[in-house]
Amino acid sequence: MNTDLLVIGGGIAGITAAVEAAEVGKKVVLVEKEHWLGGRVVQMHKYFPKLCPPMCGLEINFRRIRQNPDVTVLTGASPTKIEGDADAFKATINVEPRYVKGNYSELQECAKECPVEVTDNFNFGMRKVKALRVVNELAYPFGFFVEKEAINDPAMKEFAAKYDCIDLDMKAETVEIDAKAIIWATGWEPYDATKIDNLGYGKLPNVVTNMNMERMASAGGPTKGKIVRPSDSKPITKAAFVQCAGSRDENHLPYCSAICCMASLKQNRYIREQYPDAELHIFFIDARTPGRWEDFLQEVEGDEKTIIHRGKVAKIEEAEDGMVILTAENTLTGMLEHVTVDLAILATGMVPTVDTTLISGIKRTEYGFIENNNGSAIISAGVAAAPKDVATSNEEATGAVIKALQIIGRS
Ligand SMILES: Cc1cc2nc3c(=O)[nH]c(=O)nc-3n(C[C@H](O)[C@H](O)[C@H](O)COP(=O)(O)OP(=O)(O)OC[C@H]3O[C@@H](n4cnc5c(N)ncnc54)[C@H](O)[C@@H]3O)c2cc1C
Repeated sequence: MNTDLLVIGGGIAGITAAVEAAEVGKKVVLVEKEHWLGGRVVQMHKYFPKLCPPMCGLEINFRRIRQNPDVTVLTGASPTKIEGDADAFKATINVEPRYVKGNYSELQECAKECPVEVTDNFNFGMRKVKALRVVNELAYPFGFFVEKEAINDPAMKEFAAKYDCIDLDMKAETVEIDAKAIIWATGWEPYDATKIDNLGYGKLPNVVTNMNMERMASAGGPTKGKIVRPSDSKPITKAAFVQCAGSRDENHLPYCSAICCMASLKQNRYIREQYPDAELHIFFIDARTPGRWEDFLQEVEGDEKTIIHRGKVAKIEEAEDGMVILTAENTLTGMLEHVTVDLAILATGMVPTVDTTLISGIKRTEYGFIENNNGSAIISAGVAAAPKDVATSNEEATGAVIKALQIIGRS
């Protein structure tokens, strides 16, 4: 394939870059490693500042993609090799099959018989799902696929032999792409909270992360939108948000992920909507809510049943009846505080998912994000370049397209 622009990563930043470039007449190939577009935004229950569901921003972009013949979308696809430089990149892309045959309603019937269940990574392992699945109701492109980890399962092979809806012998394809410019928008993954020993994640079921919370609050999530204690599905009477869980910490992520304070304030509202009487606690080092986000903080500060503590949580331990007890030193009073809650939510940060082994010339910042404007032809957008929110990711993606157009225009 020949294209003007290759965009790697089909999250909100990559999608924005792809449609902006295509709408000024450039040919674009958008490559996404999952079988659906949208990145982390699809996993949110609602997103600030407007607190609308992910589809309110994504739907219009999916329509722009569908209607524009200049955008080619490859899903299940990721680069294995990239050579060359500005004006003349050569990318080798591996495209995984979905392993399905037949139309949607045939697959829907067939999926009911699927005998194999796998961990649902889309829902951060909070439930098991059938290996033949649709990822969620927002998926674009919408459709079934077989989870790769089930391909070699003997029960899945028996299922494939009995039903004509899947073909486990389908092979990955290799696509060679010549592109004049590349935008990297490979985004982020949540920091692994099991590494923060003192906060109990992975050991205490009622300690969850902020991304677990997004999925719990979502109607398509493991609890169908009901926020409950994971240990026994009991309602929440008290909950605590633990800011900077692993962030601004030399032992974990030394940097601030910029959105975690806002994410917790947003999630405070998720709980408040479902439990008007719940006692909610937020433990901050300091609240980072610049610009108009300050209104959000003030609104939560005005909630009589939300208690804000100035102090970093030092440990979380098991208490009676499934509760957990948080210990923090209040930096204003110097006193140790202990708070017992049903649910502790760790505000973990964002880690860049940049594979720099693919091509020489990508420079990274000391924290692993792509360094832009370093004289190379690598252009980045979204969280691949630094932690940021959706609106800023979109602005940066549009700026990245301008840089790409300058390269394309020179050739
Ligand atoms: C708990 C939490 C809540 C948040 N809530 C909000 C909110 O309410 N409002 C807001 O504005 N922001 C919010 N954010 C921030 C928001 O998630 C990011 O701004 C947004 O995801 C950035 O989009 P992106 O496209 O840069 O990255 P991503 O969303 O990570 O998308 C990157 C895409 O690239 C793909 N990819 C990665 N590697 C490859 C590869 N090698 N080949 C092909 N594809 C690849 C990924 O599969 C993914 O689809 C929140 C963040 C957190 C942690």
